[in-house]
Amino acid sequence: MLDVGQGDSIFIELPDNRCMLIDSGESEYGDTVADYISSAGYKKIDYLVATHPHADHIGGMKKAVNSFDIGKIYMPRASADTKTFEKLLKAIDDKGLKINTAKAGVSILAEDNLSIDIIAPNSDSYEELNNYSAVIKLTYGKVKFLFMGDAEKESEGEITADVSADFVKVGHHGSKTSSGEEFVSRVGARVAAVSVAEENDYNLPDQATLDRWRQSGAEVMMTKDKGSIVAETDGESLTVNGQGIALSGSPAASQAQSSRLIINKSTKKIHTLQCPLAKDISEKNKDYTTLTVTRLKEQGYTACKSCNPHD
Ligand SMILES: [Zn+2]
Ligand SMILES: [Zn+2]
Repeated sequence: MLDVGQGDSIFIELPDNRCMLIDSGESEYGDTVADYISSAGYKKIDYLVATHPHADHIGGMKKAVNSFDIGKIYMPRASADTKTFEKLLKAIDDKGLKINTAKAGVSILAEDNLSIDIIAPNSDSYEELNNYSAVIKLTYGKVKFLFMGDAEKESEGEITADVSADFVKVGHHGSKTSSGEEFVSRVGARVAAVSVAEENDYNLPDQATLDRWRQSGAEVMMTKDKGSIVAETDGESLTVNGQGIALSGSPAASQAQSSRLIINKSTKKIHTLQCPLAKDISEKNKDYTTLTVTRLKEQGYTACKSCNPHD
């Protein structure tokens, strides 16, 4: 996930020297994205996906279309009455490329060990442009990735495909419009990555949305803190920014998840993730930890009497 400020751009290196680009940030990031792909040694983008026609996703894409050989382009059947969108369509047309419709059920790649599927949008028309977002599920061996674009709760609720994933690119920059509680638990991610700028006009990300991912057992990572986020897999294991991640559903993951606790830094109380009292802790006092109850008690914390956490 490239750091493109307030926007999205995900570059995926695939086996056999193939690659895929999902979105490309605002137009001012066109060069950043193109330079990254060139310096990674690619002259061709095999699969190019414009999730939906908002400028923070397609702004830099004209540059990508003009700078590389392009294999297949996927876009949802949605349009925007903007110069940015028109320019992109013109660049695609000038190059003689045709657009494949991105919608649920479209398979981008289906190989023995690798599949890339579009699992949303599931409807033909939405009021909110974000819901047209192409949602992409990539499975390599045992490791699963989900890229949500800006899909909101309406689209999430329509997805019938398997959304379980180890790594999720969280929908709509961590906005409260997306990541509904039921959907978050269906995904069951270990890493929830959010593409968002420190300074933005939209109050993003939404704290309660990040908490939903954390409570589901995911570690939240944001481009505003980390810069670009790099996930690597050989189909058996997963690292994110060099850190090993226990795969979802693995014994190590459930152990890591069940051993996670919420602490109240103000009252110095320890709660389990499910404790109803943990909900009432104000955001500035709330923290998540994988320290044991014993360790926390050594640090002056006491166990909540209602949920009674223990090691
Ligand atoms: Zn966006
Ligand atoms: Zn959008």
